[in-house]
Amino acid sequence: MAILAVAANVVMERGVQVVRSTRLDRSQYSPLPDTFRPVTIPAQLPGSANPIGGDQAGHTASEPAIGRFVSAVDRFQSSTEVRATSDSAESTAEVDASVKELDAAAKDFRRLLPRPPLVAEVDAALIAYRQAGADYLAAAVLRRFAAMDYLARLDDLDGRVTASINTGWKIFGRVVARESLLTLHARLDELRHRIGAAGGPENSSSGFPKVTEGELSLRQAYDASERSLAKSEGAAWILQTREDIERMAALREEVRAATARMLDQQRLLASSRARLVALTSSARAAAGGASGSPRTGPNAIVTPPASILRSSPVVAAATTTTTTMDTVPDRGRRSTVAGITAGVLALLAVISIWTVRSILIPVRRMLDATRGLAQGDIATRVPRGGMKELDSLAAAFNRMASQLEAARDITHDYRRHLESQVEQRTRQLQHLAERDSLTLLANRRRFFVLLDQSMQRSRDIECGVAVFFIDLDNFKNLNDGMGHIFGDRALISVAQRLEETAAGFGFAARLGGDEFTVVHEEVFSPQDAEAAGLKLVDAFRRPLVVEGREITVSVSIGASLYPDHEHRAEGLLSAADAALFRAKALGRNQLAMFTPELRETATRKFTTEQGVRHALEHDEFELVYQPEVSMATLEVGLVEALVRWRMPDGRLAPPDEFLAVTEESGLIVELGDWVLRNALRAASDWHRGRWPGVKVAINVSARQLIDHRFVQRIQELLREFALPATCIELELTESVLQTGNSTIESLRLLRSLGIAIALDDFGTGYSSLASLEQLPLSRIKLDRSLIAGIDSNPRSRAIAFALIRLCDELDIEVTAEGVERESQFARLAGSRAMYLQGYLISRPVAEGQVLGVNDLMPQAMHDLMLSAPGSPARGPRLVAQPSDQEPEERAEFTESAATR
Ligand code: C2E
Ligand code: CA
Ligand code: CA
Repeated sequence: MAILAVAANVVMERGVQVVRSTRLDRSQYSPLPDTFRPVTIPAQLPGSANPIGGDQAGHTASEPAIGRFVSAVDRFQSSTEVRATSDSAESTAEVDASVKELDAAAKDFRRLLPRPPLVAEVDAALIAYRQAGADYLAAAVLRRFAAMDYLARLDDLDGRVTASINTGWKIFGRVVARESLLTLHARLDELRHRIGAAGGPENSSSGFPKVTEGELSLRQAYDASERSLAKSEGAAWILQTREDIERMAALREEVRAATARMLDQQRLLASSRARLVALTSSARAAAGGASGSPRTGPNAIVTPPASILRSSPVVAAATTTTTTMDTVPDRGRRSTVAGITAGVLALLAVISIWTVRSILIPVRRMLDATRGLAQGDIATRVPRGGMKELDSLAAAFNRMASQLEAARDITHDYRRHLESQVEQRTRQLQHLAERDSLTLLANRRRFFVLLDQSMQRSRDIECGVAVFFIDLDNFKNLNDGMGHIFGDRALISVAQRLEETAAGFGFAARLGGDEFTVVHEEVFSPQDAEAAGLKLVDAFRRPLVVEGREITVSVSIGASLYPDHEHRAEGLLSAADAALFRAKALGRNQLAMFTPELRETATRKFTTEQGVRHALEHDEFELVYQPEVSMATLEVGLVEALVRWRMPDGRLAPPDEFLAVTEESGLIVELGDWVLRNALRAASDWHRGRWPGVKVAINVSARQLIDHRFVQRIQELLREFALPATCIELELTESVLQTGNSTIESLRLLRSLGIAIALDDFGTGYSSLASLEQLPLSRIKLDRSLIAGIDSNPRSRAIAFALIRLCDELDIEVTAEGVERESQFARLAGSRAMYLQGYLISRPVAEGQVLGVNDLMPQAMHDLMLSAPGSPARGPRLVAQPSDQEPEERAEFTESAATR
């Protein structure tokens, strides 16, 4: 569309002049230097060398000569007038001819003159007349030259302005951003028009004001727009234009001055003529025959200057042609443009309607379809058609709708699938919730539900229900030895065996770990239950096959009966558990029936555990210290820390009343830590006090050692109490050998830190010699049972001394425990490398008594040495008063602990 508009404009404007313009015909101003010659006037009049009087005698017929002379004067004047306004060859020739005629006429005329004075007078007047004519012509030429200059300047100016306009860009007749140029052009045109109307810049005194006015308005227009023109046309353009305008004003003044001069000369010419004509009258009178008057009087010859200027034939020839060219496009071109424009408009209208229709209709269809889709009508589709882009959009929409439809179907299918899966999983979860995940037997929850149901049924048919609590013997060893995966497989086999066996009389369940239960439904006598129990025990006499390997697992079974022993399911199970405790105590492959006494033991166990917890929280434990004396120095080499429980009644309970339960419940770790801390604290007090070489032996349970943080804990405590590692010794039993390699590693580490390691109760276990080999020991403590017979039993003595020698060889120190009698002492006293510990030397004493015991020890030992050999035992010489309770008091403790 824009291209069409531009094209129309170009068509309109091509070759079109923007402004009207006035043309002046300046041909008559063209300088004609070859044809222009100033009129030459002879220095002397023809015949003047010969006085006029010399010729006058023969002159009789004066009248024709006078008449000729007057007409020659007139011809000179008129030819001069013509020559003044027209610079043509003819006018010049006419002047020349008139001069010749005048000269000839003057010659004849002089002859008529009677007196010499008159001749001279005529000669002078004639010369003045000819001079006036020449001056007049010179003034006229100068005036014309000035006018020509003026017009040339005007043309220059006009040419520059027009050129600037033409170089500007035009739209529908307007020059963009050249308004001032157009104004300037219009003023120039007007000025030219005025000059044309006046007949030339040099003409008419009445024309001057009009030309001046035109010039003034040009100047004003220029002044008003000089600034903007300077911007668009440049400084040089401005300089030149201004100079032109000023020069034109100056030239106009010159023209005016020249005109004035020319009029003066014209007047002078007229008066000179009048003088000549007057002289002809005098001549006629002098000749006597003068009658009549000349054809023309002096007044008739003088023409008024204004009329000469207005109607001068020369000026009239130089007519200014004023051509105003209103340059407008021709009709043909106009109609072409109009046609194009109409066509464009029509095309525009058609395109608009078509565009609106082809956009609106598809868009509306699209909107409807989108609305339908949004409302769930997934089968909706957009009709195709319309503009290409909208059609593609519709196609894309339809594709999307199809995909949505397909996606919806998929979603529906998926949801159905998901629902069925959820249902299935729920069933599985329910199953899992009731089943043990490893063995798939009923779990603890399901067990109670089933047991409850069995009890219910048994009430109806008036019979009993037996519950068997089954525990695998030494399953822990199997698990540790063969690995957990194998252990799990073994548990699955056990479950299968139990299920098979129970299938005839009830069901099996797994409670967790290696604990299983079997319920015997419909028991009619205790014997029935026992028979079922034995069946279960027997079932495990056959080996299980796990991963292709045959393994033998023995079980311990505790049984309880409903309604004989308990009425609730939980009660029944705990009764069976109590019976199991008993079965375990009896050894492997045992079945034990519940009895009320078992319940008491279980209760006691429970109460003790609670008591220990309470005691730990309320700091009810204490340490006593029992010396071990070196036979080399007879001094206390070290003291063993032994734990006691201060009961509310003040009695000190010994470890055998609570330690087993503490071990079983795992509380031993906590208690052990308490012992470590307090023993180290006491050791550091002694170390910094009167016993710098202190050494305290601390009993450590295997459970403590298993904890990988144990070594770190010992280091922390040593640091905390600023105690050298050599001030402590850890006592452990052979059971550490069963806890695996990592504990042995820990022991090596402890040993490398300088901590002494003693093996307690040596000689009671099964693998004492293996311990000597594997453990990083610095001491062994020969068990009391071995020392007991050293004075009476040669075999015991032989074993004891063999071990002492062995340790000597291995560079391991030896302490003999439980030295009660002087006879025992006597047997051991000879061995200087020995340490002795026992009631004979000292009972365990309170912390505050230790230093006192140490002080008295060498003397007591000395006395013992003296009294022991040869003489029979005189009873123990106690260094310290016993701080422990007697054995009978311990029984009381049990009572009191149970009643707490
Ligand atoms: P043990 O380590 O073998 O400690 C020696 C036990 O023998 C102590 O009994 C001690 O009082 C007793 N005893 C010492 N000399 C004689 C004697 O000449 N004749 C007799 N019949 N007994 C004597 P206690 O203090 O009752 O300790 C019993 C066991 O408790 C200890 O045996 C030890 O295994 C354990 N135990 C004691 N204190 C702790 C402790 O702090 N931590 C750990 N883990 N166990 C401890
Ligand atoms: Ca010990
Ligand atoms: Ca011991």
